[in-house]
Amino acid sequence: MSTYAWIGLGNMGGPMTANLVNAGHTVRGYDLNPQACTAAAETGVQISDSIAHAMAGADAVFTMLPKGEHVRAVYEAQDGGWANATAQMLLLDSSTVDTESSRTLHDEATARGLSFVDAPVSGGISGAADATLAFMLGGAPELMERAQELISPMSGKIIVAGVPTSGIAAKICNNMMLFIDLMASAEGSQLADKLGLDPKVFWEIASVSSGRSWAQQTWYPVPDVIATAAANNNFEATFRVDLARKDVGLALDAGVMTGLDLPAAALASEHFDRLIDEGLGDKDCSLIVKNLVPDGKVRGYTPTNTVPAGK
Ligand code: NAD
Repeated sequence: MSTYAWIGLGNMGGPMTANLVNAGHTVRGYDLNPQACTAAAETGVQISDSIAHAMAGADAVFTMLPKGEHVRAVYEAQDGGWANATAQMLLLDSSTVDTESSRTLHDEATARGLSFVDAPVSGGISGAADATLAFMLGGAPELMERAQELISPMSGKIIVAGVPTSGIAAKICNNMMLFIDLMASAEGSQLADKLGLDPKVFWEIASVSSGRSWAQQTWYPVPDVIATAAANNNFEATFRVDLARKDVGLALDAGVMTGLDLPAAALASEHFDRLIDEGLGDKDCSLIVKNLVPDGKVRGYTPTNTVPAGK
């Protein structure tokens, strides 16, 4: 059995750590949000009041944080990750970050004689809860066996993508495809509705037809069709709008860096920006359906009080 330090107990970190505890491992978790800590404690995570306490004597240190800047801040903090890491620990970042942040983390770890792997995930909170996440790993070949052992209680599939930052590069490409697929499901679902189709029947047809996708299977943005959809729950986040915007932005930045034109990704980012401007950055990314109707009224969504961005 291993001891894990886990920084970031949110929508993903919460269920992922619960699976480690269920597999018999010790997990010491740290998060700035008291509610996330309380929820994780209920699943058997031991809550630490500092990064140092969470990391003391750990075999593995996972970060599952919103953005690259948060992961770098955790490592660079006084008495943070770099100050408390030892050569015996494997450091794994499962957040979706920019390749530059990941490169910096790898380089800093190497300079300190530490072992670091970029280990982003795909599968959403349902994959996190069911321990079926796909992990994509980037790092030195000699670290991969140990990384896979530590990851396996949370995962359905682990693929070694290659050298440092390969995991995050794969993740950025994958998520760009996901959010383009989400636009297709959003438009298809609303058009089917307007054409008078029964949503469940249409969803079944798309599921065995060429409209099928992970977004359509898991996030279909109409209430009472599939259990995993945020549309059943007033579009409370399973994957926040602002994190989706971040991921598409990472792909667009990579497009600029490599000289690629990515018009569908640019359109997805416009959708998310509209919601963020309306103060809806913390809702589920499938709420882009709201952008398709002039009055913003869609089934499954009742507006609550929001503060538009910049107000
Ligand atoms: P989240 O916002 O639900 O959770 C992030 C947690 O990090 C929050 O609880 C927050 O309080 C905590 N945090 C932020 N800064 C911190 C700090 N300095 N120290 C300690 N805790 C801090 O986000 P999430 O949905 O769990 O996503 C986490 C990462 O996983 C993101 O990079 C996201 O893009 C990626 N991801 C999310 C999904 C998904 O479906 N939600 C799927 C795959 C990957």
